Amino acid sequence: MAATSRSFVRRLLRWYSSNARDLPWRRTSEPYRIWVSEVMLQQTRVEAVIPYYERFLRRYPNVAALAAAPEQELLEAWAGLGYYRRARFLQRAAKVITEAHGGEFPRDHAVVRGLPGIGDYTAAAIAGIAFDQPYAVLDGNVMRVLARLESDGRDVLKSATKRALAARAQEWIDSTKPGERGAFNQALMELGATVCTPRSPKCGACPWMKDCRAFAEGNAESLPYKSSRMKTRRVALAVVIVRCRGSLLMRQRPADEQIMPGFWELPYLEGIAADPNQFLELGLLVGPTVGAFKHSITDRLFQCVVYEAKLESRRPADYCWIAPSRMGRLPLTTVTKKALALQEVFCTCVKAE
Ligand code: SF4
Repeated sequence: MAATSRSFVRRLLRWYSSNARDLPWRRTSEPYRIWVSEVMLQQTRVEAVIPYYERFLRRYPNVAALAAAPEQELLEAWAGLGYYRRARFLQRAAKVITEAHGGEFPRDHAVVRGLPGIGDYTAAAIAGIAFDQPYAVLDGNVMRVLARLESDGRDVLKSATKRALAARAQEWIDSTKPGERGAFNQALMELGATVCTPRSPKCGACPWMKDCRAFAEGNAESLPYKSSRMKTRRVALAVVIVRCRGSLLMRQRPADEQIMPGFWELPYLEGIAADPNQFLELGLLVGPTVGAFKHSITDRLFQCVVYEAKLESRRPADYCWIAPSRMGRLPLTTVTKKALALQEVFCTCVKAE
C-alpha cells in the first residue's frame, strides 16, 4: 500500500528533530528575522550568510530600523552578499510595513506575498515558520527531492512541472497538524540541502528511502531534469586603474542604472569599445596590463582586462578622486573589487567577492 501523506510528514519531522542544523534563524519565530534570513539565503550559501545575518540584525534589529536606514549605509551592510537588489527590496518592503501596517509584520499570506521583493517561496516560508500557516515552500532543494521521490523526469524549468511539484508539496503540508508547518517546510529544505544533494545523495540516511522511486530505479543523480538554459554571451571589458597622489579615479553609477545603481566603479569600456585606445576619449593614456579575470552576470560572461592608465587632460565629467582610506566604506561594484584586488596595495581596503 502506498504511504500516506501523513506518514511522509511524520517520518520527515522525526528525522528533522534529530538532524536539523543549529542555525541562528532557527532559534526564532519572529517574522522580521525569518524574512531577513530567507532573503539572504537566496543565492548565498548558509555558512556565508551566518555572519552577515547576525551583523545585519545588530544594525537593523526591526522593521522600523531597516526602513529608516540611509541607502548607502544599507548597501555597505549588505556588501559581500552580492545581488544588491535584494537589500533594496527588503528596505522597500520595510517601508511599506512601516507606513501601511504600523510597523507590524502582516500575518495575512496574500498581504505578505504582495510586499516588494517577496515571491511565493519567501511568503510561504514566513507563513509557515513565523505564523504556522499551511503554505508549501518550493525551492531548488525541494524540487529535487520531489522529482526524485516520484522519479519524475519532466523538465523542472517548465511552469507545468513546477505547478505539479508544488501541488505535491501542498498535499503534504495540508496533512500537517497545527504547530508542525514551519518545521515541516524547514525539514523539507534541510533534507534537500544535506541528504538529497545534487551529487551523491545520502539515500541511506533518508527518512523516505523506502518510498523513493529514484532510489529504487538507481537514477537519483540524473534527476531533476533541466533543459539547457540560454547560452552565455561573452563580453569584453577593459577596466583602468588611474591614480593621482594615491587616490583613484572613480565614478558613482547613476541611481537609474538597472544593475548596481549607486555603486562606485573604476572607468571601463565594454564590448567592441573595449579596445584600450578608446580610453583616449576620456583623456586617459593606457599603460601596462595589471591582470585579467572573468565575471559573470546572469547570461553574460565578462572577460575583463585591467590596465594602469594616466590622466592626460582634465578629469572626465562624473568622475572624482577617491582616497584608499574611503574605499573600504564605499559600496563598490564586484568588477571594481576584483580589479583592485589584482593590486596588492588595495587588498587591505577592498575584498573581491
Ligand atoms: Fe533523495 Fe535518496 Fe531520499 Fe530519494 S532516497 S529522496 S534520492 S535522498
